[in-house]
Amino acid sequence: MGMTEKAIHHILGLMGTLRTEERERIYTAYRNRGELAGECKLCNKPPLQSFRFWKIAENSFPYDKIAEAHHMIISFRHVTESGLNAKELKEIGELKTGYINKNYDFVMEPTQKNKTIPEHFHLHLIVAKN
Ligand SMILES: [Zn+2]
Repeated sequence: MGMTEKAIHHILGLMGTLRTEERERIYTAYRNRGELAGECKLCNKPPLQSFRFWKIAENSFPYDKIAEAHHMIISFRHVTESGLNAKELKEIGELKTGYINKNYDFVMEPTQKNKTIPEHFHLHLIVAKN
């Protein structure tokens, strides 16, 4: 088994529990306080990097078991995946093979049932822990 395949198996084994217990407790408490209701947290996130149609921002509740750094790429427009237009899709495609490929190890997308903010499309960008 090659390194990449081994790394993938390692990641898959951690799916669902990508946060440490402590981090997961903080996140659950935050959700239970209803802090995700109201204004969109992703629209309001300050960018670390801005592109034409996308920004990269910090994730406040990182997958800290596996991630050295955990950012998200977020469309400037508040839309679901199916609401993305051709220009937005073209740019994220270019970023995936360019900027993202250069700076991160994994692009992750939770399945629908695990998305916290499904109404605003975003992907998780991970720099893996060694
Ligand atoms: Zn939004």
